[in-house]
Amino acid sequence: MKLKGKVALITGSGSGIGLEIAVAMAREGATIIINDISEANISAAIERVREFDVPYLGVLCNVSSSQAVKEMFKSIMNKFNTLDILVNNAGITINDEKVNENYKKLAEQLLTTGKTNISLGATRNLTDVDWDNMLKVHLYGTFHCTREALNIMEDKGYGKIINIASVCGIAGGVGAPAYSAAKGGIIAFTKAVAAEVIRVGVYVNAIAPGYIDTPFLNTMSPESMASVLLATPLGRLGKASEIAPLAVFLASEDSSYIVGQVISPNGGMVL
Ligand code: NAP
Repeated sequence: MKLKGKVALITGSGSGIGLEIAVAMAREGATIIINDISEANISAAIERVREFDVPYLGVLCNVSSSQAVKEMFKSIMNKFNTLDILVNNAGITINDEKVNENYKKLAEQLLTTGKTNISLGATRNLTDVDWDNMLKVHLYGTFHCTREALNIMEDKGYGKIINIASVCGIAGGVGAPAYSAAKGGIIAFTKAVAAEVIRVGVYVNAIAPGYIDTPFLNTMSPESMASVLLATPLGRLGKASEIAPLAVFLASEDSSYIVGQVISPNGGMVL
């Protein structure tokens, strides 16, 4: 067991990638803290983790609130008195009907005329609220949890922080400007913090998945899904269970010379 005795917090682990990471870490013997904004998702995730007979805790917390994150860390310290692994995974997507509509028009024009002059219009129509929410959950959430974790990890001289970015943060996701900005910010944050804290024994790395089959993709239009599959040489979506082993690797001693890296399991989409 690679993570026996380690205490791991995985944000947004009530669903999708975070849930599979929590299960994979429990399988390796880690104590698991499930965080989410949905009570029902937390309960369902705990049912999965219980199979492995490891200590666990569920914490309802919106990571975009620094105060709520401070409270979450207090309850973690009250129960386990330490934290070894943090996975910053919580995330949201925007359901932009207008972009989906434009994608459809663009695909039709392309198929009938062989060229297109249609913009998706995602940035010009983006509201302050959607921009703020996106950055608050992903980028601020990652900062809030990292800051609290470092208060524990730097003092104990040990820690593993894994930030879930995206191929959109590397290459830019067309039609998703706020999401791409948030994920690009997470990648730069990962590198800056990694170089800062490695000398006190805290490892920070990022995983930048391609398109993974989770509820996160439910709002994608058939046209944008088709374009994703065409752009993915492997020809299919990834599975959350294909991301989780990488998180376990980055949380374990097997990755002892990997610092500030962005590893992208993406089926060949971004090379
Ligand atoms: P998911 O199945 O929707 O899981 C995300 C979880 O985070 C949900 O349970 C969600 O709760 C929770 N959450 C949302 N806002 C939160 C907040 N403020 N505080 C705490 N928890 C919150 O999506 P996923 O695909 O597993 O995504 C996980 C991460 O991977 C995200 O950071 C996403 O950007 C990244 N990612 C996903 C893909 C993909 O194709 N799926 C690709 C690259 C990167 P609700 O369901 O109640 O909103």
